[in-house]
Amino acid sequence: MPDDKHIEEYMRKTPKSLQIYERACKKMAGGAESNIRLFPPYPLYLTHGRGAYIYDVDGNEYIDCICGMGCIILGHNDPEVRAAVIERVTKGGDVLGCPTELALDYIERVQKAFPSMELCRFSNSGTEATMNLLRIARAYTKKDAIAKAEGAYHGGHDYALHALHLTEKEMSSDPKHPPCLPYGSGIPKYITENLIKVFPYNDAEATAEILEKNQDNLAAVIIEPVMGGGGLIIPRDDYLKKVRKITEKLGIVLIFDEVLTGFRIAYGGGQERFGVKADLTALSKIAGGGFQMACIGGKKEIMDIIVPKAQGTAAEVTSGMTNAVQVGTYNGQPTSLAAGMKTIEILGRPGTYDYLEKISKMLFDGLKDQLADNKLCGTVNYVGPLGQVYFDCPSAKTWRETFALSEHKWNQLFYGGLARGVYFGIPHPDERFFLTKAHTEENIQTILNVSDQCMKEMKKSKC
Ligand code: PMP
Repeated sequence: MPDDKHIEEYMRKTPKSLQIYERACKKMAGGAESNIRLFPPYPLYLTHGRGAYIYDVDGNEYIDCICGMGCIILGHNDPEVRAAVIERVTKGGDVLGCPTELALDYIERVQKAFPSMELCRFSNSGTEATMNLLRIARAYTKKDAIAKAEGAYHGGHDYALHALHLTEKEMSSDPKHPPCLPYGSGIPKYITENLIKVFPYNDAEATAEILEKNQDNLAAVIIEPVMGGGGLIIPRDDYLKKVRKITEKLGIVLIFDEVLTGFRIAYGGGQERFGVKADLTALSKIAGGGFQMACIGGKKEIMDIIVPKAQGTAAEVTSGMTNAVQVGTYNGQPTSLAAGMKTIEILGRPGTYDYLEKISKMLFDGLKDQLADNKLCGTVNYVGPLGQVYFDCPSAKTWRETFALSEHKWNQLFYGGLARGVYFGIPHPDERFFLTKAHTEENIQTILNVSDQCMKEMKKSKC
């Protein structure tokens, strides 16, 4: 828990959030729309966002570093995106149930950024996107198992919810042979025991050994180019290139989960930034310009598996006459397409990523300097406008190294930030924070002033 004084200040500033929380707990499970939004003593309930700011129900303003969990990159309520959405909604047809040319225009734009996505489809969230791609890989390879990195998050479906935590006992297990534990209850034992293989991100040798050992059953490796699980783990020593090489050699489909990194760490995501091509790619978050959507795609030869061979009647599907099924009422929802397309267009303009790099360097290198100036042990990892600060972690090159982080110090930053008008990212120490094109250099300086005050408090409290 954070210092009492920060909690007291938070509670003093946010009485309406508390009132809503008490009401919400009776009607909405846990009092929030999703587990991740909860933090003690109660979450902050927001009304709206504008540019680099978010506003709570008590009228408090915060510089926003959660940015819609990474969906927002132009700032909230960008005027051009808003105009595109209004134009589309005014035209009429929020869900048409028939194909649109808009979907094709959108895909053609995505393919300019992600040339590896030769054939594409839509779904509606990061979870749906990775779930669909794993099925496509299984159908294509006619194999059932998948491999994922220890600590990596790929959404809320049964296959993805594995190896996201370790029990006390497992903490000392061999990092080169990570165990596979389900994350939460309700996940079929059969999946955990038979279908998920876990490898340690950034250990190319151990990864290759695990893939080689399981090659006969492995349909796919799913990986984030920069691992968001555990905060922000950056690939080292050509790790992604080595994974690409070994999956190619073994005939395992390589899926890049670019839900978080796509259009964020470069226009062409991790594939552009690190010069590695995936077989299949999942995009979401920024791809919808703040609206719900995901775009999936990859090698034509693999994606062809979802093109129906027959007419797609129920009888044909159950008798195996069609290939893998990929469906969704809201796939390619026009408002999301309009918002996503305008966002991608704006991001493609000259200078956008240079500016994002500039303010990211200013913030994250500034945080590194503050750790040193305040004689605090810690690491700052960042790639473009995506980063995390790990207090008490001398190094954060692997997921397991991040276990050393001080939750207490991170809480002091998070709650100290709330008290001073900065919302420091997703409210958990193993998450991360974001910047947008709407953040000014003045905003960054304000954030740094606040973080410096928080670090000075940490130094004083000697926690
Ligand atoms: N993959 C990654 C890398 C993510 O960061 C997330 C969400 N944070 C997901 C998948 C799941 O996306 P969603 O919450 O839209 O289902």
